[in-house]
Amino acid sequence: MAHHRPPAPSPASTAHAGEAPAVHMRATLANVPDPEIPAVSVIDLGIVREIHADRVVITPTYTGCPATITIEQSIRTALDANGFADVAIETTLSPPWSTDWISDEGREKLRAYGIAPPPRGAAAASLKNQTAADCPRCGSSNTEELSRFGSTPCKALWRCKACAEPFDRFKCH
Ligand SMILES: [Zn+2]
Repeated sequence: MAHHRPPAPSPASTAHAGEAPAVHMRATLANVPDPEIPAVSVIDLGIVREIHADRVVITPTYTGCPATITIEQSIRTALDANGFADVAIETTLSPPWSTDWISDEGREKLRAYGIAPPPRGAAAASLKNQTAADCPRCGSSNTEELSRFGSTPCKALWRCKACAEPFDRFKCH
């Protein structure tokens, strides 16, 4: 097992020579998985809103979601391990996180993981009316919601009538 040495207390100016801190920070955060869906990172989900030399601004996915604290802790751990112990994490809840912030790459990763990504640009009101989700396996829109709660409180359980497979759907807030 690789042993991680604590980062040397070198001057900050040479810690990431030749690389802008924001670029290195983004690469670091792109490796921080979402605690509920490890297939996507906090960058894929759009949780990381702003990256500055001295702070990272995040908006947790769901207020009240138990994963929220885990997300911040994971980001803290990743920053500390990559020489950004001085970088602060700022949480902002306004505007609230939206499924529209999930990147195209994130959407593809969700689909590959078997989770129907939410439609882009759909108003929250219409989403609450349970707009049909496309089956992530066969692409059919002939689907139905079985339960408001899937494997986690942030997902709903759906079933595809075409291939009869159940699947999780990201709940839209
Ligand atoms: Zn299907």
